[in-house]
Amino acid sequence: MARPEDSRWAIAVGQVSTRPGQSDSVNRTFPAPSGIGDEVVGVNQGDEVPVNGSIDSITDGLVFTGTMKAPVHAECTRCLGPVNRTWDMPFTAFFPYDFTIAATRGDEIDDGKTGKHKVRGNSADRMKDEETEIFADEDESEDIYPFVEGGAFIDIEALLRDTMAEGLPLQVLCRPDCKGLCPQCGANLNDDPDHHHEVIDDRFAALAELKEQLERKQN
Ligand SMILES: [Zn+2]
Ligand SMILES: [Zn+2]
Repeated sequence: MARPEDSRWAIAVGQVSTRPGQSDSVNRTFPAPSGIGDEVVGVNQGDEVPVNGSIDSITDGLVFTGTMKAPVHAECTRCLGPVNRTWDMPFTAFFPYDFTIAATRGDEIDDGKTGKHKVRGNSADRMKDEETEIFADEDESEDIYPFVEGGAFIDIEALLRDTMAEGLPLQVLCRPDCKGLCPQCGANLNDDPDHHHEVIDDRFAALAELKEQLERKQN
């Protein structure tokens, strides 16, 4: 049977969870989980995600705050060229010691310290309605995740997936002044800044011809 510590997303928290007020820093690189975004914009499974943060113990659980550097691949919305850039994505997650209590208290609980928490189901449950989660999830409340069974580890696979999926940029430009594609022939105007077409628009050509005909009649 797979042990919790064998997960590539497991973090040992045995020390910090012994009593409230303990803190431990996390500076590690984790592989990106599957299922973040799509072909157009997303994070490839297995790509390295540096995570920096700290795990702090409060009375009823652990709070993990930090920033992950998401290695986002995307298409430029103007020129469709590839964009590979690292996005800093801050996160706050709560791992309650008693997840079932937190989860049965309703959609949101309040620990009296850090404000509202949104309750997360386990990964298997979440996969079912993942699409609605990703797009409906716009508030800034922190997310709640269960401890790994036994309590000596937390597993941040779901946290990584949720944070990066929700943090994916909507409009990506390869550079702020990307010139995009020529609307007539599709040429990349960044590669060819002087690109233009000599041919006048067909409609104007037709008008010019009409004008010419009218003028001939008049004469
Ligand atoms: Zn571009
Ligand atoms: Zn053109």
